[in-house]
Amino acid sequence: MIEFHTDNKGLLPPLKTQVLVVGSGGAGLVAALAAARNGTATTLVEYQGFVGGISSTLTWLGFHDQEYRLVVKGIPLEIVRRLQAAGEAGAFALDPKCSSALSLNNHYYKCLAIQLLKEAGVRLMLHTYVVDTLREGDRIAGVVVEHKSGRQHILADVVIDCSGDGDIAARGGVLWEKGRTGDGLVQSPTLVFRLGNVDRDALIRGCQDWRLVYREWLDPYPELRAKFLKRLPTVDTFIFGGFAPLVKKAIDAGEFHSPQTRVIGVKTHVPDEFLAVTTRILGLDPTDVDSLTNAYVDVYQQILEHLHFFRKYVPGFKHAVLREVAPMLGVRESRRIMGDYVLTGDDVVTGRIFDDVVCMGGYHVDIHRPDGTWVQSTDTQAYDIPFRSLVARGVANILMAGKCLSATHEAVASTRVIPICMAQGQAVGTAAALAVKRGVTPREVSIRELQAALIAQGAELRQTLGEPNWQAIDEVGQFPKKGQPADDGIVSAEPPAVPRPPAVPSPPQVPVEHWVR
Ligand SMILES: Cc1cc2nc3c(=O)[nH]c(=O)nc-3n(C[C@H](O)[C@H](O)[C@H](O)COP(=O)(O)OP(=O)(O)OC[C@H]3O[C@@H](n4cnc5c(N)ncnc54)[C@H](O)[C@@H]3O)c2cc1C
Repeated sequence: MIEFHTDNKGLLPPLKTQVLVVGSGGAGLVAALAAARNGTATTLVEYQGFVGGISSTLTWLGFHDQEYRLVVKGIPLEIVRRLQAAGEAGAFALDPKCSSALSLNNHYYKCLAIQLLKEAGVRLMLHTYVVDTLREGDRIAGVVVEHKSGRQHILADVVIDCSGDGDIAARGGVLWEKGRTGDGLVQSPTLVFRLGNVDRDALIRGCQDWRLVYREWLDPYPELRAKFLKRLPTVDTFIFGGFAPLVKKAIDAGEFHSPQTRVIGVKTHVPDEFLAVTTRILGLDPTDVDSLTNAYVDVYQQILEHLHFFRKYVPGFKHAVLREVAPMLGVRESRRIMGDYVLTGDDVVTGRIFDDVVCMGGYHVDIHRPDGTWVQSTDTQAYDIPFRSLVARGVANILMAGKCLSATHEAVASTRVIPICMAQGQAVGTAAALAVKRGVTPREVSIRELQAALIAQGAELRQTLGEPNWQAIDEVGQFPKKGQPADDGIVSAEPPAVPRPPAVPSPPQVPVEHWVR
C-alpha cells in the first residue's frame, strides 16, 4: 500500500519584529542596517538566496552630482570604503554625464553585505517570499510569507517596502502608479552580462577612433571630448554609450535584432572585463508573471547574439568570453508607491530644496526609452529627497525606499541609481527606529530629530556639500551649463535663471493617475 506523507502543518507560529524590511536590494540592505544599528529588532526578508538585489550585478553610478560633489555619504559610502580598503572596488571614476562610476567586485560585496547584517544583528530570512499583507484599519500589522518551512505571519511595528515592485504597499491597498503618464509603459529592462578576456588597449584605441562615436554626448564639444579621451588610458573604469555605427553595421548584416542601437555598458576596473548593458525588452509589465517569463526567454536569446556581435564588430572583443549573466532581470522601473509627497522631474532638474530633506541625489534623469532604443537624458542639480516621498499615503506604518519611492516616472529615472536608493534606505531605516523608540508612527517622527540622527551617522543633507568641485571640473571637464545637445532625443535642461528658493515645505500633491489593486 502506498503511504502519503505531508509536511503541511498549517500556519507556523508568527514571528514578531519591531522593524520589517522587505527586499534586500541596495535600498533594503541599507534600511535594515540603519534600523538595526539604531537599536531596533530588525528582520530582513528576501526571496533570492543572496542580498543586494540589482546592486549586486552592476557598477554603482551617481554617488556624486554633476558638479562632482559627493551627494551620498553615510552607510553607502562606508560600504564603498570597506570595498576599496579590501581592494575589491576601483576608485570613483568621474564622468560628465553620469557624475561618477564605482566598479566593484559584486560577489565580494554580497559576502560583505551579509557580514554587515550579521554584525548589526539583523534577522535575515532568505528564500522567503512575501505573498500578502495583514491590514488592520489604517495600519499594516504584518505580512504573510512563504518559505521552505511553510507559511508564516511576520508582525511588525513598522514595515519598510524595498521590494522594488511596491509589493507590500500594493497588497496592502496603498495607491500606486506604474510607468509614464498616458500609456503606463515602464523603462525598458535589461539582463546584464559580463564579458572577460577583453583587450583593454584595443578597446581604448577603438574609443579614440572618432568614426566609432564611442560617447556621442561628447561629440558636439570637441574640447571636452579631447580631454575625456586623453584621460581614458589613465582611468580604470569608464562608461559606454555609443558605437552606433557598429551596431548599425550588424543590424544591416542581419546579425543584431534587439531593440537597441548603441553599445551601453561599463569597462570595469578589472582589466580584461566589460559589463554589457545591451539587451533590452520593450513592453514589459514587471508585475505580470507571463510578461516577466517571456522577457527572460527573449533576453537570454539576445545574449547569444550580442556575444557574437561583440566578438565580430567591437574592437578588443575578438576573443571575449561570456563570464557571467546577472542572476535577475534588471527591471528599471515598476510600481511607484504614492506617498505624502510625489517627487517630480522638475524637483530633480532644478535641484529643489526641501525642509524635510532626508537624503540627496544628483544623477541625471536617465530614461531608457520604454518604446524605443537608447536613452533620453536631462541633467540635474543636486536635489533633496523629502521624507514625505518615503512615507506611504493613507496608512500609518509603511515606509518605502529605492525604486518604489513616491516619485513620477521622470524623477525616479534619476533617484533609481544604486547610491541614491541606498541613501533612501538609510533615511527610512533610521526613521523606523526613531518611530519605534518614541512609540509614534513614522509620519509623527520629529523631522529635526531624524535629520540630526542622519547627520550624526554621516549622511549628506547639504550640510557639507560645499562649492562645486572646481579641481575635478578642471581635470575631467563638464558640459556647458547652457543646456545639452538635442540630437537623438537628448533633452535640453536649462539651469534655472534665478537663485534657488529658500527651504520651504512643498504642498502635498495629487497624482494625475493611479491604480489600486
Ligand atoms: C539593467 C539596469 C541597469 C542599471 N544600471 C545601473 C548602474 O549602472 N548603476 C546604478 O547605480 N544603477 C543602475 N541601475 C539602477 C539600479 O540598479 C536599481 O534601480 C536599484 O538597484 C534598485 O534598488 P532597489 O533596492 O530599489 O531594488 P532591487 O535591487 O530590485 O531590490 C529589490 C529586492 O526585493 C526582493 N523582492 C521583491 N519582491 C519581493 C517579495 N514579494 N518578497 C521578498 N523579496 C522581494 C528582490 O528579490 C530584490 O532583491 C540599473 C538598473 C537596471 C535594471
